[in-house]
Amino acid sequence: MTETAVEPPTFHHFIAGEWCPSTSARTFESRNPADTRDVVGRFQQGTAADVAMAIKAAETAGPMWRRTPAPKRGEILYAFAELMARHKERLARAMTREMGKVIAEARGDVQEGIDIAYLMAGEGRRMFGDTVPSELPDKWAMSIRQPIGVAGIITPWNFPMAIPCWKMMPALVTGNTVVFKPSSDTPHCATLLVEIMAEAGFPPGVVNLVTGAGAEVGDAIVDSPDIGVISFTGSSATGKRIAARAGAKLKRLSLELGGKNGVVVLADADLDLATDGILWSAFGTTGQRCTAASRVIVDRTVLAPLLDRLERRARALTLGDGLAETTDVGPLINAGAADKVASYVDVGREEGELILGGGRATDGDLAHGHFFQPTIFSGVGAMDRIGQEEIFGPVLAVIPVEGYGEAMLALNQTRYGLSSSIFTRDVNTAFRAMRDFET
Ligand code: NAP
Repeated sequence: MTETAVEPPTFHHFIAGEWCPSTSARTFESRNPADTRDVVGRFQQGTAADVAMAIKAAETAGPMWRRTPAPKRGEILYAFAELMARHKERLARAMTREMGKVIAEARGDVQEGIDIAYLMAGEGRRMFGDTVPSELPDKWAMSIRQPIGVAGIITPWNFPMAIPCWKMMPALVTGNTVVFKPSSDTPHCATLLVEIMAEAGFPPGVVNLVTGAGAEVGDAIVDSPDIGVISFTGSSATGKRIAARAGAKLKRLSLELGGKNGVVVLADADLDLATDGILWSAFGTTGQRCTAASRVIVDRTVLAPLLDRLERRARALTLGDGLAETTDVGPLINAGAADKVASYVDVGREEGELILGGGRATDGDLAHGHFFQPTIFSGVGAMDRIGQEEIFGPVLAVIPVEGYGEAMLALNQTRYGLSSSIFTRDVNTAFRAMRDFET
């Protein structure tokens, strides 16, 4: 393709039920990471003043939404789930275009949004409190669930529909109103979601969307005294910053942050099964998942056959535009991500032995996107940087160890510990791992 010839569409904030421009009168572009000549659209460069308007709208809608019976709120969530299901293919294709994950995974991302909307719709009829016996005579003791108020929702780009739904659906069914700030890499996905929310019948002001930079829009949400709860998913660095600022204001805070996830492969493992699991985990979503396996901790006795399988299978992965059903691995999200991955590959060359990949993929049409070769290092030490730091790209560090004890120590030697897994045929070892792995 050539550079987008027609003027790309401009999208707006959604505040108090209206699509409106930013007070900044500035926009930013979202481009297809598989082909950066393709401009998805222009989006509002939000400001603190825009956030203030969105909060005001959310506060105004609050009393009405809070008084709406929870089962009735649930019905709107249900209508949203139905609409999302009806538009699933359109949403998935838009997601792949904007952030690159292959279409099968994008369908899964949309499906996760649908599933949480159905689950939380049901919660509208299940929002139980407790009644407990009081130790005092003639006293009644019970608890009920109350909304907090306005929820600030700040989300990353790697699950651009699932994560906003995971955050917004529980907040909304329990009677909170929402100010939603999506990643600047996926404003179109967020806009499509909010369009469907409006169509589903969420009243004006209950859901408000403000796009724009984390440092401006995100900070304004975190700092506002009128937002009582923040739900954030993203990098640990941003999470720490938000925790400090929100903590100073004693806000309620939910943080879902980074990972450096390990797969342990023991001597008795089914190596074909392990290879399937590792490939999907390391290179699916181009390694850009919080739960991506970026460390394989393997018993030395099976190191060679496992590496052989991994190298063969990873070499055969097809890179390309995720909209092609034959593509296995899409692009990285942006140029900055490609630079970051390349810099970790430089570190890896010092720390381990490069088995496969190690560079940007630029053959043919790939040259127009942010593609990176699936990369494997062997001989990595558990404390090496590529064994410790989140790379968030298709780079796998293989760490050889001896036996279960060393594997468990290596697995636990991380400050992340978000997810882990083990391949063994011994059920007792599997249960020891459930006990021992700090995940
Ligand atoms: P990020 O750079 O931390 O950004 C996440 C969100 O925070 C974006 O909307 C970003 O806005 C915003 N932000 C940036 N600076 C901010 C600030 N000072 N105040 C408030 N908000 C701010 O993370 P990302 O690159 O989008 O996402 C990848 C990370 O998310 C990885 O570390 C991954 O492990 C993690 N993740 C975790 C989970 C989990 O469940 N644990 C799930 C998925 C992803 P801009 O886009 O405008 O900068």
